[in-house]
Amino acid sequence: MTARILDGNALAAQVREDIAQQAAALIAQGVQPCLAVILVGDNPASAVYVRNKVAACEKAGFRSLKFDYPADVSPEVVLAKIDELNRDPLVHGILVQLPLPKQFNEEEVLEAISPAKDVDGFHAENFGLLLQGRKSFYPCTPWGVMKMLEVGGVSLKGAEAVVIGRSNIVGKPMAVMLLSQGATVTVCHSQTRDLAFHTKRADIVVAAVGKPKFVTGDMIKPGATVIDVGINRLPDGKLCGDVDFESAKEVAGLITPVPGGVGPMTITMLLSNTLESARRAAAHFQSTP
Ligand code: NAD
Repeated sequence: MTARILDGNALAAQVREDIAQQAAALIAQGVQPCLAVILVGDNPASAVYVRNKVAACEKAGFRSLKFDYPADVSPEVVLAKIDELNRDPLVHGILVQLPLPKQFNEEEVLEAISPAKDVDGFHAENFGLLLQGRKSFYPCTPWGVMKMLEVGGVSLKGAEAVVIGRSNIVGKPMAVMLLSQGATVTVCHSQTRDLAFHTKRADIVVAAVGKPKFVTGDMIKPGATVIDVGINRLPDGKLCGDVDFESAKEVAGLITPVPGGVGPMTITMLLSNTLESARRAAAHFQSTP
């Protein structure tokens, strides 16, 4: 059996088209969605991510602002910029590209962003709302995965889901989102004793580990849905996921590729959150006498 491939590029293009139309309608009302991106240092991967985010904004008709700082910038300078952007009514989303250099306390920086402009969904307030099943800005990567599962027609109610990885930005929110849709969720991590025991009985496996080709076909239940969040650079410069695509696609029923899977959906959900923030700002503006 060869798995059906869930094409993240195609889905992202479709959703972004819809976002661009909604942005145009908002612009006609006098509100242009605006995302401000802060990049510190010269990490090449971060620079590529930021470039892609800015380009996606512009393609959707959003305004984007980019602030570059050298690696040795003092945290106070960046915190002052965040404060300024928090107070700017024309800015709807603020994103600080991670990782930050070691003089920064990432938690402090993320918490400095107003929850109302936290379009990455990393602020503790938004994470708390997500945990309680209330409306918030959802973290973009796991939310993109949820969209992919929906479009792929994957039934979540009662499904056994295994999330590999427990980071605050992917694994934990992913587990909460799957749980909220009725899946029975197991979170595996670096101290899990027998990973394959868990993955082999899962209807859905989400891999967010950061280790190339870590999940192999023999760890997957025949017909399962396999979502690969990983982005790893191989010595030959090519990108690969956390799943060994070649062996896994022979066993899975549905699988996402890398590249062209979850990655494009992450940026799409960032646009979606920024649009939503702009819409809230427009509604607030209209209701203010
Ligand atoms: P992280 O390093 O913060 O977390 C990795 C997790 O993997 C940890 O929770 C750890 O416990 C777990 N882990 C490590 N070794 C393990 C093992 N042997 N068995 C089971 N679990 C193990 O990483 P992250 O930020 O969550 O990112 C994970 C991957 O997803 C990375 O490859 C990253 O580049 C990628 N990523 C992709 C996107 C996207 O848009 N597609 C977004 C964010 C992250």
